[in-house]
Amino acid sequence: MSNVKTLFITGVSSGFGRALAQVALNRGYRVVGTVRNATAKAEFENLHAENAFAYELDVTHFAAIEAVIADVETHVGAIDVLVNNAGYGHEGVMEESSLDEMRRQFDVNVFGAVAMIKALLPFMRQRRQGHILNITSMGGFITLPGISYYCGSKFALEGISETLSKELAPFNIHVTAVAPGSFRTDWAGRSMVRSARSIADYDALFDPIRQAREEKNGKQLGDPFKAASAMLDVIESSNPPAHLLLGSDALALVRQKMESFSAEIDRWEALTRSTDG
Ligand code: NAP
Repeated sequence: MSNVKTLFITGVSSGFGRALAQVALNRGYRVVGTVRNATAKAEFENLHAENAFAYELDVTHFAAIEAVIADVETHVGAIDVLVNNAGYGHEGVMEESSLDEMRRQFDVNVFGAVAMIKALLPFMRQRRQGHILNITSMGGFITLPGISYYCGSKFALEGISETLSKELAPFNIHVTAVAPGSFRTDWAGRSMVRSARSIADYDALFDPIRQAREEKNGKQLGDPFKAASAMLDVIESSNPPAHLLLGSDALALVRQKMESFSAEIDRWEALTRSTDG
């Protein structure tokens, strides 16, 4: 029992979190997951008689996080791997989307993840061991009209993740930012927050994008169970990467972005260099 690895995953009610929990339970891990209601808690704990534990936690209830982590460490087991998965997508043209919507997007996708990490790090640092996976997105590298708040939050998490991987390397704590492409989860369905349309000037640009996302929901390329298996490969690696893309769509789009970014840097190199001295 004591050499069973413990994974702590935020948001195990559906999608990547649930798939990762199921695959990990099948591979013999102990999995502690967060959910947001009693029904989801009971349902999750029914997945495995000994190894599935659920805590009710909204990751934006920052004051509650430390007690949850401490309780898991004391009563369930030392957390070997934290997976910051809980998150959602806000969709809306920026001019049409309120600052409150932006705050909520960052509270969940960025502040929630950071709060979890901060609560757990004293334990991992003391053990000189641990692995943190932050689920970002290809939207942490590429952008598309209508998801500025989402991309902003995922760019932020990518940056925090990479920085943290350098700060924690001396303590043998690995940090991996996992950036999936489009996968068949509830992300573009029940979980997505869509701002109402209000400015006709954006109709031509944005209406087809919103419609295409609604039509594609449930038919995305990626299989969350295959993503789960890939994440476990990274968790089981002795030398995990700081960044991992998941899906051939993410691969193509991020490569394309890097090439065009690099070409733009080259085009403006002389002006860039002109400010030295
Ligand atoms: P999902 O099926 O909608 O799952 C999202 C999970 O996050 C649910 O368990 C949800 O809980 C939980 N959650 C949302 N807000 C929360 C909060 N404030 N506190 C605690 N838990 C919360 O979608 P998913 O695709 O698996 O999403 C998981 C992560 O993958 C997200 O960070 C998302 O941005 C990222 N991602 C998804 C895709 C994709 O194509 N699916 C691509 C790139 C990145 P409830 O059931 O209680 O709502």
